[in-house]
Order: sequence, then C-alpha cells, then structure tokens
Amino acid sequence: MKKDVEIAQEAKMLPITEVAKVLDIPSDELEQYGKYKAKLSYSYIKENMNREDGKLVLVTAINPTPAGEGKTTTNVGLSMALSRLGKKTVTTLREPSLGPCFGVKGGAAGGGYSQVVPMDDINLHFTGDFHAITSAHSLLAALLDNHIHQGNKLGIVTKRIVWKRVVDMNDRALRNIVIGLGGKGDGVTRENGFDITVASEIMAILCLASDLDDLKERLSKMVVAYNYDGEAVTAGDLEATGAMALLLKDAIKPNLVQTLDNTPAFIHGGPFANIAHGCNSVVATKTALKLGDYVITEAGFGADLGAEKFFDIKCRYAGLKPDCVVIVATVRALKMNGGVAKDNLAEENLDALRAGSSNLIRHIENVAKFGVPSVVAINRFPTDTDAELELLDKICEEYGVKVVLSEVFAKGAEGGMDLAEEVVRICEEGKADFKPLYDLDLSIEEKMEKIAKEIYRADGVDFTPAAKKQIKELTKLGYDKLPICVAKTQYSFSDDATLLGAPTGFTITVRELRVSAGAGFIVALTGSIMTMPGLPKVPAANGMDILSDGTIIGLS
Ligand code: ADP
Ligand code: MG
Repeated sequence: MKKDVEIAQEAKMLPITEVAKVLDIPSDELEQYGKYKAKLSYSYIKENMNREDGKLVLVTAINPTPAGEGKTTTNVGLSMALSRLGKKTVTTLREPSLGPCFGVKGGAAGGGYSQVVPMDDINLHFTGDFHAITSAHSLLAALLDNHIHQGNKLGIVTKRIVWKRVVDMNDRALRNIVIGLGGKGDGVTRENGFDITVASEIMAILCLASDLDDLKERLSKMVVAYNYDGEAVTAGDLEATGAMALLLKDAIKPNLVQTLDNTPAFIHGGPFANIAHGCNSVVATKTALKLGDYVITEAGFGADLGAEKFFDIKCRYAGLKPDCVVIVATVRALKMNGGVAKDNLAEENLDALRAGSSNLIRHIENVAKFGVPSVVAINRFPTDTDAELELLDKICEEYGVKVVLSEVFAKGAEGGMDLAEEVVRICEEGKADFKPLYDLDLSIEEKMEKIAKEIYRADGVDFTPAAKKQIKELTKLGYDKLPICVAKTQYSFSDDATLLGAPTGFTITVRELRVSAGAGFIVALTGSIMTMPGLPKVPAANGMDILSDGTIIGLS
C-alpha cells in the first residue's frame, strides 16, 4: 500500500468554495487561505446559531498502545462513509502540533485512504492559529515580567508566578531556564520555563469559548501568579485581555478543509489531552452541528481520559448532547493489553485477545454511564485473523454492543459503510440521554474520587500533603466548583503506565492541583506529566525533505 503522504499528494482536491457548497455556505462567508483552506466568517457563524442541531458522534478508543489505534483515521473514514449514505456529514478534528509531528507520532490528519487534505498544510503552519496562540501567550508573559520590572504594583510574588512561556516545538532544553540575566534594565532575574503551545491555557480557552465575549471573559480570569496576600493575580489584573483577544481574532474562526472524498472537515484548536481536555473547539463543533446532519468528532487518548473530559468538560460547558460513541479498538492493541510483546503481535493469539478485551469492555461500560449508546469499530490491520475477529464479536455481544469491522484505512469510505450504517441506526433510534458523571457542587476531592472509582475503577484516591494544601487554597479562592481535568498516563486505567488490560486493586495518587480558571477546570496531576515533550533519539524530522519540484517526503 502507498504511504500516507503519497495518497494525500495524489488527492483530487476541490476548491474550498466547492466543498463549502455541500453545507450551503456562500463563498462570501469564507475567508480563504489559498485555494484549499478557509475560515468561516464570524458573522456567518453567529447568524446560524439558532438552527437545529445535527447528530453528534464522538470517536474515542481503548487505552492506546504503541501498536496504534486509529481514532482520526476512523473519524475521517466514518464521515466519508456517512456522506456516501447521503448524510450531510462534517468531520471535526484538532489541529496537529509541530512538536509530535517532528518527534515520534507523526502528523494527525488520519491515515491511508481516510485522510484530510491538504495534509502537509494541516500538519505544518495551517492557517496560523497556533502562531496566534503562541503570540497571545507570549504577550501576557511579557506584560507580566514588565509589570514586575516597572515596580510590581500588584505585589506579585516572583516565586509564585505560574504563567510560563510557550513554543510549538518539542524542546526539552527549554523546560527549565533563567530569564532576566544581564544588567538593571534587562528585567527581573528569575527561574522560568517553556511549555509546548498546545499546553497553553489559551489553547484550552480558545477551544471552550462560545464566542468572542466568552473568549475575553475567560482570558481575563486566567491566573498568572499569586500576590503577597496569597490572592490570585489574573490576566485581567494585568490589563492584558483586550490585546490578547485581538491577537486571537482570526484564530477563533473554524478552519474548513476537505477529506479525500471532498467532504467538509472543520479542523480547529488542539489542546493537550493531559493538562487540558483534548478536544477540538466548541465553536467548530457547534457550527458543524448547525450546518450538517452528522458531526463526527474526536477526543484525545483512550476513553478513560478523552471521552470523560469530552463529556464532563466540553459537553457540559457547551450544552452539547452526543448521540452516539464509536469506540475504536484494534486486535493488535487488545493483544498487547493481554500481555503480548510488540514484536509478536502478528501471530494469532486468542487467549491474549480474550484477556486484553477486558480493557475494551471496561470502556464500553464506562461510556454507558454517560447515557450515550456506543458501537465498537475494529480498525482492521492486515494481520488480524478471522478467528480473532469472530471472538471479539462474541465478547462484545454479551455487553449489548455491536462490533463492526472498519477498513477505512485500506479502502476509504467503502471500508466504513457497515460502521456508518450502525451509527445511523443508533442515532435514529434516539436512545441517547446524555448526563455528566458528577455534579459540579461536589468538593474537589469528591469529584476526583468519583472519576477514579467509576471510570478508572480505583479503590480510592490518595492526595499527597502538598495536594491537600492546594485543595484547601483553591477552595478558599472559590475555584472548587469547577470540573476536574485529570492528567494521567494514557496507557493504563491506573496511574501506572505498565498496568495494562483492566487493572483492579490500585489507588490513584494526586500529587498536584492547578487551576485553569479561564478554561474553567482544575487540573489534577497524577504521576509526572510532561508539558514540554522532548525529541526521541531519531526524530521524525530527520526523515523529512522537500524536493526541488515541491514533492514532500517523510510527513505522515
Ligand atoms: P489516533 O487518532 O488514535 O492517534 P491515527 O488515526 O492518527 O490514530 O492513526 C495513528 C497511525 O496509525 C497513523 O499513522 C495511521 O496512518 C496509522 N493507522 C491507522 N489505522 C491503520 C490501519 N488500519 N492499518 C495501518 N496503519 C494504520
Ligand atoms: Mg487522533
């Protein structure tokens, strides 16, 4: 089979004005970025907000393994298949970050014959949204340090500054730095550090804001530091809100591109799935729901993190009511969950598959707790045997969930017709009755315990002494009624990345809590979470090139 980049380069793209016609978007309402990318005008989005919503489908997955799952590939393939069934379908995805693109993961535009295009542009600078976010973040950092340099009227304790700097690159050397070296006029000397842009709270805010006014309100609430009285100092206190919003004026508009079948895709926003909620923007999802019959969206990592945050944070804030969940699994990854080493995954192994299915089953049960019906999509790999696929069918049948084989990677829309039909059946049956897992009025501890016990199936939660102190402080400052955004390893239900399958008899340790007051959640950190990734020994960047005729090599 051809490489992803080759398939993408051979795509017969339509001008973006033609793609927009599928959704009856007049070309006047498009702000074009070349021939194949456009942003939707802000006024058009506002005008259409009173329309009725289409159906909302979330694509999530089992716990990821190095064997690969394929949520984005399934998302894109499913939406092409639904379009073939005559449904006006919109794919909504996150924008890829340059860090993972040049690191290990590769890009995030789907794979095989289920991709969004222009794949190279989407994976690289796209329409500049990440640049805008980096700039808004940097502006606030500059205003903060300047405020201290100019006399520190707000009484900011420099050791209690929580606003770092960001760049969209995996660069471990920037994790811990010292700024303000030099002479008297060169700023106050202090320790600082960089996070990757997708970890910026501004990214999370851009993705949760319902419109410009909400964006500004959220920006103003961001906590940048604490003062000598222990009170929060916000971006609003630094009078930074207006200028930051100005820098984000275009970034807030969703980007329209197309799938390999020329169907519409909104790719917009890309918050980290650990210290943030890992979903594309509310503006894009809502706009897509107004313009399409079916909207297929995605949340980062496995369903324990991605789907839980999609439901409890994004859907709760945006008032979204999902109709159906697709849980993506692969035979390979389930066998890995059942104890098979990565090098032996090509061999049939029914025992390991049976053992590893415990992971899938737990995710099926968890999704049901939110009141949304699901279907399991097996993302087919060439090594999957008929006996293995039959066994999975049988296992899931017991849980009242249908298993559908998805071959969208190898066949595009045609490989997703069964999945599309099951999704339509579930949506038309209309049994979904979405409800979040927990009530916001619960205390921080109670909310965390509920997630840990009901979703991860932990026996309980241990809060370190430092975490307990932070809970007290956050409660005193009035931040205790926010939802919880758990930062946890994506590889396991537990906070130990090596416990695969469906572990029991463990507790979750919360070692730190941070408030993202603008985004509107409390981040609970378990284990050590990287907010500035590093590059591997052989970065993907080493295999990339552009030839004299413009051919791109090594992007995936
Ligand atoms: P996720 O969204 O879950 O991170 P992606 O859809 O981005 O996963 O897929 C991860 C990688 O696996 C991509 O490079 C994609 O091309 C590849 N991939 C996905 N499905 C298949 C498949 N069925 N066969 C081979 N490779 C696949
Ligand atoms: Mg993805």
